[in-house]
Amino acid sequence: MIKINEHYLKLQSSYLFSNIAKRLEAFQKANPDKQIIRLGIGDVTRALPAACIAAMHKAVDEMANDATFRGYGPEQGYDFLRSKIALHDFQKHGAQIADDEIFISDGAKCDTGNFQEILSIQAKVAVPDPVYPVYVDTNVMAGRTGAFKDGRYGELVYLDCTRENNYIPDLPDKPVDLIYLCYPNNPTGATITKGQLQKWVDYARQNKALILYDAAYEAFIRDESIPRSIYEIDGAREVAIEFRSFSKTAGFTGTRCAYTVVPKQCSAYTASGDRIAVYDLWNRRHTTKFNSVSYPVQKAAEAIYSDQGQAQVRQLVDYYMRNADYIRKVITALGFKCAGGENSPYIWVDGQRDSWEFFDILLQKAGVVCTPGAGFGKCGQGYIRISSFNSYENVQKAMEQLKKAL
Ligand SMILES: *Cc1c(COP(=O)(O)O)cnc(C)c1O
Repeated sequence: MIKINEHYLKLQSSYLFSNIAKRLEAFQKANPDKQIIRLGIGDVTRALPAACIAAMHKAVDEMANDATFRGYGPEQGYDFLRSKIALHDFQKHGAQIADDEIFISDGAKCDTGNFQEILSIQAKVAVPDPVYPVYVDTNVMAGRTGAFKDGRYGELVYLDCTRENNYIPDLPDKPVDLIYLCYPNNPTGATITKGQLQKWVDYARQNKALILYDAAYEAFIRDESIPRSIYEIDGAREVAIEFRSFSKTAGFTGTRCAYTVVPKQCSAYTASGDRIAVYDLWNRRHTTKFNSVSYPVQKAAEAIYSDQGQAQVRQLVDYYMRNADYIRKVITALGFKCAGGENSPYIWVDGQRDSWEFFDILLQKAGVVCTPGAGFGKCGQGYIRISSFNSYENVQKAMEQLKKAL
């Protein structure tokens, strides 16, 4: 008899977005003429940069000709892309990352989800609360979390991110082996300083732990003093993996291209305490289970690093940042405390009432869809997340309606 992976039964159903959809549907049924503005889900809305489109078209034409056709590419990605990433995203900012430490993939969701596979099932895992759910659920599936009880998994260590600590968690009070961090943060929009990040890197070095650093929103950082990469921090090459994605930075959510940085010095240990390079394990896992991102998509990603591409991506991000700034100002003027909206596309609003109650008020009275913070974890209760991924016109309209409603 075929048995299932019982750990899957511990997963909490994707209650958050299904519940939002349910409430939305009910509202639309009752108010068929009312226009709804969606500032909920974290998906971009604007077209790909022209430089990416031109490069993708050219690559498609190459595929149409025997002489220039490409079959399987290197699993880790083409050198033309890996070298540009290493140069522009790291070396230029003083972070020593080599071309072959970059692994191209089809998404940071899969990479952040898959990485735990090469680590011990006994690893003690720390996750932020509120959290990007992928970090939690993939560890549930693997069997590291224990059962779900009173809103939390018994074996996970939760790192509380609250207004009191500016959404930067304190170091754990019990030893942990694997630490997930995400800055600029989804959902709180918070950013971390070099000093704060240094504490985590030092902790990981002292405890022989590993940090999985999700920098999917790095392009939204405009303040020069905020680290764009964990490798700007001393010692990080030994203890940190960094995940990046072109999804939010260049509008690639539907095109799919991302990358993971695995420094060769980064270590994990055998049961008997011998050092193993994480690089070798990830390289083995990646080349065994993944067959690279399509050539036209890698060409489109490469075009981001051309002069035109850089200017266009900056424009794209600036567009959303203008939305974020607008939202943050309106929310603040209405007397709410919020995080994010600067160096981040998300605004995390302390609603001073139940998350779902606030969600309903915004939907019913303003026709605006946000995301209830409670869906991201215990510490998200009382908050909502507003996303800046929409047109400026819609954001203005949404904020006008919100002002009237509140
Ligand atoms: C959107 C997002 C990603 C990117 O996911 P892709 O699979 O690359 O589209 C990664 N991490 C966080 C926290 C995100 O919000």
